[in-house]
Amino acid sequence: MKIRRDDRPADHRPRKRFGQHFLHDPAVIERIIRAIGPRAGDRMVEIGPGTGNLTAALLQHVDHLHVVELDRDLAAHLQSRFGKALTLHLGDALTFDFSRLAGGDKGLRVVGNLPYNISTPLLFHLLGFRSQIRDMHFMLQLEVVERMTATPGGREYGRLSVMVQYHCDCTRLFRVAPGAFTPPPRVESAVVRLVPRPPPLEATDPGLLGRLVTTAFGQRRKTLRNALRSLAPEELILDAGLDPLLRPERLSVEEFVRLSNCLAAAGGERGVPV
Ligand code: SAM
Repeated sequence: MKIRRDDRPADHRPRKRFGQHFLHDPAVIERIIRAIGPRAGDRMVEIGPGTGNLTAALLQHVDHLHVVELDRDLAAHLQSRFGKALTLHLGDALTFDFSRLAGGDKGLRVVGNLPYNISTPLLFHLLGFRSQIRDMHFMLQLEVVERMTATPGGREYGRLSVMVQYHCDCTRLFRVAPGAFTPPPRVESAVVRLVPRPPPLEATDPGLLGRLVTTAFGQRRKTLRNALRSLAPEELILDAGLDPLLRPERLSVEEFVRLSNCLAAAGGERGVPV
C-alpha cells in the first residue's frame, strides 16, 4: 500500500463521523509519551490508533500493544505497518470488553487520542473495567477535561466530575492547540491522567448513586430539595447533614455518596415515601 508522508493510506480521507483528527506534532507526541512513561512489560491498549503516530512512539518503549480501531481501512494499514508488535481489535471501543486484555497483577494501561464525539460514553464504559485498569491517559476536548477535573461550586462541575472522581484520581496534564492535528479540530484539547482507586467513601448502592447524581444535575439550577423531589424527601437530605436549599453543584463527591447511602438505608427510591 502506498503511504503518504503523514503515514496515512494514500486514498484515506479523515472521517468526521469517526472523530478523526490525527496528531502530527512530534513535540506533543513526545510530551504524551513522557506523561505515560511506558515500560517494556506494560500491558497496554491504545483506543483509536488512527494513522499510528502515537502507536509508533509507544512501540519504541513497549514490546507489544493492543489497539482498538473502528476504521477498517486504517486498521489494515496499521497491521501492515507494525506487524506482530500489534494486536489489532477491529471494532467499537464503546462495546469492547477490555477485561479480555487484562491479566497479571499490574493492571491494564489504557491510552488514546480519543474520538471527541463519543468521549463521555466511552469514559463511562471504561469505568466499568476500573478494577482491571492501572491507569488511563487520554487526549480529550479541553472542555471535557475541565468537567472531569472540576471542583464543587463551578459551572463545569457536574455528573461527569462526580462519577469520574468517585472512581479515579484525575489530573489535567497539559493543553494541546488545534494546530497539532490534521485536520485541526475546532476546539482546544488537553491530556488527562486517570488512576482508578477505591472511593474514599463507598456507595452502598453504586447504581443508586449514579441515578441520584444524574437526577440532581438534570436540574442544576434548582435547590437540592426541588431537584431531588422525585427521589428523596427533604428530611432525608437533612439526615445526610446537607442543606436542602443548596444547589446540587455545591455538593462534594463524598456528600453525594453520603446522601445516596442515606437513601439506600431508607429503602432506595421506591422505599421512600415522597
Ligand atoms: N490516535 C490517532 C492520532 O492521535 O493521530 C487518531 C486519533 S483520532 C482523534 C480518533 C481515532 O479513533 C480514529 O482513528 C478513529 O477512527 C477512531 N475511532 C472513532 N470511533 C471509534 C470507536 N467507536 N471505537 C474505536 N475507535 C474509534
